[in-house]
Amino acid sequence: MFIGALTEVRRRIERACVKTNRSAEGITIVAVTKAMSSEAISEAASFGLFDIGENKVKEAAVKYNKLSDELKGLKWHMIGHLQTNKVKEALRIFNLIQSVDSLRLACEIDKEAAKINKVQDILVEINVSGEKAKFGLSPLESGSVIEEMSQLKNINVKGLMVIAPVAVNPEDSRSYFRQLKQLSESIRWPALNRIPVLSMGMSGDFEVAVEEGANMIRLGRALFG
Ligand SMILES: *Cc1c(COP(=O)(O)O)cnc(C)c1O
Repeated sequence: MFIGALTEVRRRIERACVKTNRSAEGITIVAVTKAMSSEAISEAASFGLFDIGENKVKEAAVKYNKLSDELKGLKWHMIGHLQTNKVKEALRIFNLIQSVDSLRLACEIDKEAAKINKVQDILVEINVSGEKAKFGLSPLESGSVIEEMSQLKNINVKGLMVIAPVAVNPEDSRSYFRQLKQLSESIRWPALNRIPVLSMGMSGDFEVAVEEGANMIRLGRALFG
């Protein structure tokens, strides 16, 4: 079942890339396994998906601890809201924390990372839509906050992440993705010698995200049903 879904996803990514003259090679698929067991993680890896997304530290830890060293060595992405009291455990598991939504959280990550000699890769979550219930920095404050985050020695700000509002029509997400892309172009990325990561697009709207410049998409349902 999974291989069929993955083939279909790859075909749809390819089509969105052709449409916008991009290469699909530059797009990382994060397999979001939050609703799945640890077996799904090894299945994803066996099909060449080496990026795993989880949204809760505790649940991720339960799965992570069960896995072989090889699977622990996959690239683990934290995509859910991270509370400061879970930072220490998160640092043990995750390669990329995509959901850094405040300077305070970044400082906590920096502090804990320093204790274990880790430089933690992060993305900064942006609340482009301005929805009250949503986490993330406002686009207006993000430039100066990211500059401050970039001063921290034990974190490495790699780019931006957005969760678009729930949409009936994928086209409804387009303007949010476009705004994130524009924001990333307006930010100085002093520590990066490559283009910033733009993590945007989920099962319902990943083609639109790719068309708007996503280089990382986070897929749960499209892969696992
Ligand atoms: C659950 C989740 C996803 C995946 O959602 P699907 O619609 O199942 O693809 C992506 N990003 C975040 C932040 C999520 O919480």
